[in-house]
Amino acid sequence: MNFSSKLLENAVAEFAKLPGVGQKTALRLVLHLLNREEQEVEDFGQAIITLKKEIRHCRNCHNISDTETCEICASPKRDTSLICVVEDARDVMAIENTAQYFGRYHVLGGLISPMDGIGPADLYIESLINRVREQEIKEVILALSPNMEGDTTIFYLYKKLKDFNIPITTIARGVAFGGELEYADEITLGRSIVTRVPYENAMMR
Ligand SMILES: [Zn+2]
Repeated sequence: MNFSSKLLENAVAEFAKLPGVGQKTALRLVLHLLNREEQEVEDFGQAIITLKKEIRHCRNCHNISDTETCEICASPKRDTSLICVVEDARDVMAIENTAQYFGRYHVLGGLISPMDGIGPADLYIESLINRVREQEIKEVILALSPNMEGDTTIFYLYKKLKDFNIPITTIARGVAFGGELEYADEITLGRSIVTRVPYENAMMR
């Protein structure tokens, strides 16, 4: 693309780094911003800078939070004996949207993936084991994506957790997950959490 302005070119290049945004879309967004009021554009930029500077991760569950302990972990209404293990913050949002789960979470920050060089030490697994050891946990639900990395991670966590002698459960296979959930999928996800099964049973099916 030929730009008449270096400033324009730089802004387009930054937007084009975002996932799913090509050069054309980036240009459209930048030209749109140019037409907005200066204050609006400043608010837009400031929201992103503040987000990056001030966002925290809950010290208990590692979910994205504005405070040291996230709203879910701090809530007296949640069942503190239940932990639902998920890959990232999008999964927490998806499960919260189902309004079918009232325990706490544990965000791993990814899945074990030898192909990508991601091992157990790169994820929040140690802190999960510590929570099960130190808090009065009665069940751990492994709600991870139904793919190879998810299966590998579930199996690894099961081996680490089975000696605590508490139920380790999983949600039904093939349930859609993460940020791109449709409303219909949300109902299925909610149901699969309610009807979760012990991992030992799931393995035999
Ligand atoms: Zn938390």
